[in-house]
Amino acid sequence: KIASREFIPENTVFPLDGFMIGGDEVVMIAGPCAVESRSQLLECAQAVKEAGAHALRGGAFKPRSSPYSFQGMGEEGLEILAEAREVTGLPVFTEVIAPEQVPLVAKYADVLQIGARNMQNFALLHAAGECDKPVLLKRGPSALIEELLMAAEYILSHGNRRVILCERGVRTFETSTRNTTDINAIPVLKNLTHLPVILDPSHSTGHADLVAPVARAGIAAGADGLIIEVHPNPRQALSDGGQSLTPEKFAILVRQAKGIAREV
Ligand code: PEP
Ligand code: MN
Repeated sequence: KIASREFIPENTVFPLDGFMIGGDEVVMIAGPCAVESRSQLLECAQAVKEAGAHALRGGAFKPRSSPYSFQGMGEEGLEILAEAREVTGLPVFTEVIAPEQVPLVAKYADVLQIGARNMQNFALLHAAGECDKPVLLKRGPSALIEELLMAAEYILSHGNRRVILCERGVRTFETSTRNTTDINAIPVLKNLTHLPVILDPSHSTGHADLVAPVARAGIAAGADGLIIEVHPNPRQALSDGGQSLTPEKFAILVRQAKGIAREV
């Protein structure tokens, strides 16, 4: 299999506007769960840049559990993300939820995110495999590590070799957190595959107070990066406010992250 270390022993490392993913540096991707308005996104983008983020995240198409929840700003959100990239220079990670939307999202985004709920949307994986932008593939909430790797294989086998894997917590019996961070998945994946592996402690914990300690654990376990939800005013967020850091808290985490030893 293309994803396996047996097939390709050396780590996959590739550049993204001014930094390398999969290399020596832990990459920090930060921004709101969803693009809510031009002012919210531009304020957030500037704040995470000043705090030391390498890249900006923000959803324009949101795969919400309820059809009555805010579904994202759609193409207008993509335009705002592109404007934020112009202003800050940060590359943009944003989610694509349908195969026919891949060309549209790829026009605006630097990295296409495939969310946990779509990990086994094979038509979407196929379309992402034919696109010329890197893909961030998130592990499904109940997916085996082997299933995540096979999902990555759908993208790789259609020609796109720039895939980043993301552990974002799995569903367990525990209710005190939104998901359970499978910290094991990080070294397991690093052993099995040459692809970069990042951690999303925002969705894996669901609580802003837990994000920094779990993020630090992820780096120590060997993660190549972190994707963190940051909102200028978490209480007013239209989605995932309870797990979003303020820019100030994010800046503290960036400083802490630099001090953590990571085996690579
Ligand atoms: C997100 O990144 O906002 C998101 C919806 O994440 P996940 O797909 O991991 O639930
Ligand atoms: Mn979210």
